[in-house]
Amino acid sequence: MFEKIRNRLTLRYAMVMMLLMMAFIVVSAAGLLWILYQEERQNLRSFTEEEVWEQVGMYKEKGTFFQLPSKETEDSGRGSKIFCYVFDTNGQLSAAEEPDQLIQSGVLRIIYKWDAADGEVKLKKFLLDNGDRAVVMLCSMKIYDGSQPLGTVFVGEDISDYYRKLKILLIMMVVISIIFLFIAAFAGHLLAGQAMIPIKQAFFRQREFIADASHELRTPLSVIKLSVEAVQKDNDQRLSSFSVQTLDDMNSEVRRMAKMVTDLLTLARADAGATNIIKEKFNLAAMLEMLIRSVGPLAIVKEIKLVMRGEEMLPIMADRERISQLLLILLDNAIKYTPVGGKVDILLTRIVTPKAAVMITVSDTGEGISEEDQKLIFERFYRVDKARSREEGGTGLGLSIAKWIVDIHEGEIKVESTLGKGSSFIVSLPL
Ligand code: ADP
Repeated sequence: MFEKIRNRLTLRYAMVMMLLMMAFIVVSAAGLLWILYQEERQNLRSFTEEEVWEQVGMYKEKGTFFQLPSKETEDSGRGSKIFCYVFDTNGQLSAAEEPDQLIQSGVLRIIYKWDAADGEVKLKKFLLDNGDRAVVMLCSMKIYDGSQPLGTVFVGEDISDYYRKLKILLIMMVVISIIFLFIAAFAGHLLAGQAMIPIKQAFFRQREFIADASHELRTPLSVIKLSVEAVQKDNDQRLSSFSVQTLDDMNSEVRRMAKMVTDLLTLARADAGATNIIKEKFNLAAMLEMLIRSVGPLAIVKEIKLVMRGEEMLPIMADRERISQLLLILLDNAIKYTPVGGKVDILLTRIVTPKAAVMITVSDTGEGISEEDQKLIFERFYRVDKARSREEGGTGLGLSIAKWIVDIHEGEIKVESTLGKGSSFIVSLPL
């Protein structure tokens, strides 16, 4: 149980870490991209404005555009290259500072289809012939001499390298985050283990306390029970009818308490793994017959018909005492929760697929259990109708003990029930 909680805590911790790391990567990458983009945009705009001024000056002086030399900008250290194209009013290319040959045709294609506003900077991506992706930033501005248009300048920057480096950085961040995630999960597992120590200690102390308390309560309870019975049997007594009634009530309460203490002790020992299971071979059908005979008087009182069907000889290897306890719980419940005149049917069968097993089905025509309650009745102290269970001398521990007995025999227990019609408890035990 503790290991399960520890693993669950570790998983949650790792998931929170993963979400935080993912958020960190997304926010930092997006932030970085945005800052760089804004900066580059500003630079490109300034370059374009400068270019426009130079071209206007040149045109005024010589009547022609300035022929641009092919050069790499000072930014080339960062891998970005600035290029420039000047077109006259007829759309004829008048001057150019060409970019890398690889991207030239792609850039010109973008320029010929340019539809952005004057001075607007755009980011464009396109595929190169060699399959690589090129990324360029472009800005266009019209050249005017006073109000007379002279042409258009396109200034661009090849930022493909830049993009590639950012991509590598992102991949590295993801890889580093994954490594950190593993380290964090491992550290989380260790920390969860540490945090479980005091919880484990408190749990074990509480379990010991329940076992000790139940054990200690058994003797005084037996003494009280015997004393009450002795007073009830005393022939010389001159008790009022009120005292007789009180003694009767005391007797039934003491019985209930003694049963609860025994059940609690069984569960406390089961939790501590202190119960020895002694497996032996015995005939399950014979045991069932004997148990049906022993609960017979209870059924007679309520005019309940008890019927046993199925195998008459079914040897199994199991803990005789525990299996008898399990069957008694189911039979007792079936009689308890079935109204007068009902029927309890016990079916014993042998199955071979998927695994060789024995099936015991205890069906009754009782009040039935709702679907929500069916999920909870195997929990400790869970009772559908507390008052009713109390009236019947129930403690709410019977089915938890039944489930434990089935579990230690590696079997299964389930309930099928319809409200108002009855319930069937089906136990399968491996052969
Ligand atoms: P209890 O001592 O109260 O009988 P159990 O653990 O044996 O405790 O059963 C838990 C609850 O499940 C009962 O209080 C009862 O409400 C319900 N229950 C058990 N068996 C039956 C049954 N055959 N028919 C209807 N309800 C049942």
